[in-house]
Amino acid sequence: MALVMITNDDGFRAPGLRALAAAVREIARVVVVAPERDSSAASHSLTMRRPVRVRDHGGGVFSVDGTPTDCVILGTNRLLPRRPDLVVSGINPGPNLGDDVNYSGTVSAAVEAATLGIAAFAVSVCDYEPEDYSRPAAIARRIAARILAGGMPPGVLFNVNCPVSPRGVRFTRQGRRAYEGAITELADPWGRPHYWIGGGTPVDDGGPDADTAAVEAGYVSITPLRIDRTSHETLATLAAEWGDLW
Ligand code: MN
Repeated sequence: MALVMITNDDGFRAPGLRALAAAVREIARVVVVAPERDSSAASHSLTMRRPVRVRDHGGGVFSVDGTPTDCVILGTNRLLPRRPDLVVSGINPGPNLGDDVNYSGTVSAAVEAATLGIAAFAVSVCDYEPEDYSRPAAIARRIAARILAGGMPPGVLFNVNCPVSPRGVRFTRQGRRAYEGAITELADPWGRPHYWIGGGTPVDDGGPDADTAAVEAGYVSITPLRIDRTSHETLATLAAEWGDLW
């Protein structure tokens, strides 16, 4: 039977993770290795300057006192009985579209798995407080079954975003998403300024084939991402244009 590791960035108690684990358990053996606490926007950070503790909750559920990347490294190398056939990260409450992928702990867990040579995808639902996760969980199970049967190209992961009521699937490229008003300046009781980073209004700019546009139109967006970020177009001309640099 296939072995699937489930992780997230919201913590091992998150309802989105539980729904995902339950859905994938219908088609594979599942082990959960997830952060002890919410580490949303942890990106790809690694805990290197203190020890990392693991708690075994029984029934194939482990929590890690660290980041999503720590979870993938420890899960795939130490905690699972063998290297998993697939790592699935989510289900994140809130979309991970366009430039979000650079901050997302959910997506970074899948990036880490792909870096280790393991098939992986990340799933997010486009609602910050979803009432239930049954639609994205069912879609995740279908994608997992497809990958377990047919594999995935090496060095690639899927970033999946599911609208609240999806009307189909679109295969997309990563769009752009900036946040306006994402810095809030406040004064402390002594009048000194301090800041909150986060929130703000997303401003999308990606074109009609982007992840942002698909979700806006009500479709599940599946974006294949590469761990190799080389710009091949730039590389092709760089030697000619910058050949006199040395
Ligand atoms: Mn999160």
